[in-house]
Amino acid sequence: MDKQKKKTKKIAKPLDESRAKRYTCIVCPTCCELETDGIEVNGARCPRGERFALQEMVMPLRFVTTSVRAQIPEGTMMIPVKTAYPVPMARVFEIMKEIKALRLSEIPPIGAKVTAGSAESPTEWIVTGEVE
Ligand code: SF4
Repeated sequence: MDKQKKKTKKIAKPLDESRAKRYTCIVCPTCCELETDGIEVNGARCPRGERFALQEMVMPLRFVTTSVRAQIPEGTMMIPVKTAYPVPMARVFEIMKEIKALRLSEIPPIGAKVTAGSAESPTEWIVTGEVE
């Protein structure tokens, strides 16, 4: 029995060329080249890529990884964190300022949630690693 799957390329859907934009899908390492007009998506090998292209057109979202300072009696430690959810790219500089301004008084365990920013617009971060 032939175990090789036959690769069939999806037929490109007609797009509104006046609105069409191209993106490289970053959801998985395959990096499909996508094209969308905000309604139809061409080039995606799976539904996740279609959702990615449509979201990129409206409001690009990204996870952000960085580190937060913990000031403990032994000194200042840098704790690796990432956002608990994808954030709008337009807010990345703002939330980076917020996390850089935060000072933890203890070292949280991996997986702990850390909140930064104002009460009206907080951002949740997840501790991703050991102290550096
Ligand atoms: S479209 Fe699907 S297969 Fe292609 S890069 Fe995106 S997630 Fe990966």
